[in-house]
Amino acid sequence: MTLTMTRADGGRVEVVCGSMFSGKTEELIRRLRRALLGRLRVQVFKPAIDTRYHDTKIVSHSALALEAEVVRDPRELLSLVRADTEVVGVDEAQFFGHELVDVVQTLADRGVRVILAGLDQDYLGRPFEPVPQLMAIAEDVTKCHAVCTVCGGAASRSQRVVDASHNGRIQVGAAESYEARCRHCFEDPEKATKVIARAAG
Ligand code: ADP
Ligand code: MG
Ligand code: ZN
Repeated sequence: MTLTMTRADGGRVEVVCGSMFSGKTEELIRRLRRALLGRLRVQVFKPAIDTRYHDTKIVSHSALALEAEVVRDPRELLSLVRADTEVVGVDEAQFFGHELVDVVQTLADRGVRVILAGLDQDYLGRPFEPVPQLMAIAEDVTKCHAVCTVCGGAASRSQRVVDASHNGRIQVGAAESYEARCRHCFEDPEKATKVIARAAG
């Protein structure tokens, strides 16, 4: 029997998730750089909402960076993927809506390796859609952990340390607004006001 590789053989979904500072973007960049070393045709995307560091780059908290195309929604992302692209990287997947799931399925069915990085929980510790849905359809899921800023253990949650009351679920920010916390050191903002008081005082 002759084994022939078709492009469809490469089609798969990989999710890199975890809290803020857990190394999701570093891991995404690592995988994409290896794909580039293998001379694969790679495209990288990020949502327009995330303009913390640089307009057209994905950037980690440790200052690794890779050029990216900025898109407003999953439809635009799909329309920009070229016919011969083999690997698609997406950072901050939690900022795209549910439509991202269909777009990712379409690309993977077409033979594209899709690697997505995103927060799996919001600042209240609730699943952050569409990342849980992406984890469900993925061939491979990597859960990254940060270092808990309180106890030094493995952190799975992002604690908002500025007043949570007037910003809602999406508040783009970096070190100044969030801390990595483990399950035990995480304080539910809806139950405790301690964190806010500490940040203010
Ligand atoms: P993410 O994309 O998950 O927010 P990044 O890949 O951007 O994470 O950044 C990970 C880097 O953040 C680490 O390599 C480290 O240099 C830095 N960092 C800052 N605070 C922490 C922390 N509390 N735990 C782990 N890494 C941290
Ligand atoms: Mg990141
Ligand atoms: Zn802890």
